[in-house]
Amino acid sequence: MAADVRQAFLGSFFHTPTYGSFEYLEDALIEVDAGGVIARVVREDDPRHDELVRAYHDSGVLVELGQGRYGLPGFVDLHVHACQWPQAGIALDEPLDRWLLERTFPLESKFADVEFARTVYGDLVRQLLARGTTTVVYFGSAHLDATVELARACVDAGQRGLVGKTVMDDPTANPDYYRDASPRKAVEETAQLIREVEAMRPDAPQGVWPVITPRFIPSCTDEVLRGLGNLAAEHDAYVQSHCNEGQWEHDTVLARFGKEDPYALRDFGLLREHSIMAHCTFLTPDEGALFAQVGAGIAHCPISNAYFASSVLPVKRLREQGVRIGLGTDISGGFSPNMYDDIRQAVMASRMLETGVDAQRPEPERGSGDARISVVEALYLATAGGAEALGLPVGTFEPGRAFDLQVVDTCLPYADLTGFGVFDAPEDRLARILYLSTPENIRQVYVQGRRVIEK
Ligand SMILES: [Zn+2]
Repeated sequence: MAADVRQAFLGSFFHTPTYGSFEYLEDALIEVDAGGVIARVVREDDPRHDELVRAYHDSGVLVELGQGRYGLPGFVDLHVHACQWPQAGIALDEPLDRWLLERTFPLESKFADVEFARTVYGDLVRQLLARGTTTVVYFGSAHLDATVELARACVDAGQRGLVGKTVMDDPTANPDYYRDASPRKAVEETAQLIREVEAMRPDAPQGVWPVITPRFIPSCTDEVLRGLGNLAAEHDAYVQSHCNEGQWEHDTVLARFGKEDPYALRDFGLLREHSIMAHCTFLTPDEGALFAQVGAGIAHCPISNAYFASSVLPVKRLREQGVRIGLGTDISGGFSPNMYDDIRQAVMASRMLETGVDAQRPEPERGSGDARISVVEALYLATAGGAEALGLPVGTFEPGRAFDLQVVDTCLPYADLTGFGVFDAPEDRLARILYLSTPENIRQVYVQGRRVIEK
């Protein structure tokens, strides 16, 4: 029993240390140190296993998952508009311009009220944790004070948060009642956010980071994009934005700069290592190579893409190009706060991309061919893939990674996932969890070794 181990978890765990396959750790013992980091994984066939289990049990630090329960890594959600949470599931039948002008901007503008922000953000952080999401990259509203509240909500609830104040300063592209007053003010407030969030670090062992957050190029002036790029270099800070989401964005940026979105972002200093760019569905092979070269990551938002991107991200091609890809719910362009829904949609969308969808077209012309991803690959995107995009040691149960765990109970009376034991190989159990589990099945959630949800 190692001296620095503070807790040990005994149970059966699924994770995806490499893309394309999973590992099943049956009756394994995971030792977690005082910092909430995995010290060692002791497998069932290890000769020390039983003796260690007894020792941890006797010293009162053993946590047993229990029969029919499985541990999965906490999810990494790379793209959430926290200030759109009150409209999740609303108005998705509207065209994008009406969705933005009549719903989204009026809603986001309400976050000038810090009290309202505190209520909404506290609820969202708890709801995401309760669905197994332990790390989240958030867009706040365009308000500094509300965005500081969002970071505080993550710190208080024990969630690992990466938080940005949305910048949207172009008076010709944004409503007067909801935009940054000037490029200078937007850059100053972003610098202030960096200072305020970094000051929260001592209270957040799980980590909290500021993110430089231009909404997307069409809502920002050149001056603010340059200013934010300089700030990113100066602070070596995370950057997030939307990139190449749809035809309109693609054409607008091309007309303005004579170059595509990714090159424009790069030239403003915003496409950097661990920058998180949402959607990217229009990325060409050359642009994929650019992402791989600079180490920028993609937040793949398969549900939202079905509504607003009018295309499917070619995950398989981009992964083969070496691009880092994770999943995002994109609340509220995506309706669901549940990453399991995005795992499922990522698989289904890839199948439709491969085979096509219009049966009236000749079969060879219907789809792109060779695009499908498996549900295990989608799990990788939701965990280790997101971790890779952010450069954070989370997403798997390997020594040196933060211990972020969701405990899935497969034996609940109204949410049974046992399949009557007919198909009971580990891959069948995992597939049933990924396709069929509901928030009810998630009974406990840990972040950095600390229990934050107990149902
Ligand atoms: Zn978005």
